[in-house]
Amino acid sequence: MGRIQNLIDCYDCGHAVSGNAAACPSCGSRQPFGPPVLNRKRTPIHNVEARNDRNMFIIAGTLGAIGAVYGVATSSGPWTATLFGIAYGAAGILFGVPLAGFLNFTRRLWS
Ligand SMILES: [Zn+2]
Repeated sequence: MGRIQNLIDCYDCGHAVSGNAAACPSCGSRQPFGPPVLNRKRTPIHNVEARNDRNMFIIAGTLGAIGAVYGVATSSGPWTATLFGIAYGAAGILFGVPLAGFLNFTRRLWS
């Protein structure tokens, strides 16, 4: 009893080829396992993820900008304007990221 080998049929000639072989020993094919199989289901998912990331960036950035403007508007001087702007802006971003994540999650449930 020899070592168990993972034999497959050559994509080009049908000859038995070891799963570890880089080329078919019978016909010399460089791709005895056939051409690389492209996973077509992966592309739309990637697109959704990219769109979700962009939406998250937009929502977090918008809320951060709104928070910064609100912080500056409610301040009484240049120093408090800076502090409030940064504080409210950061709060807007911190609030926008989970909000965008929630929106992305719910939209995935709908689609
Ligand atoms: Zn072959």
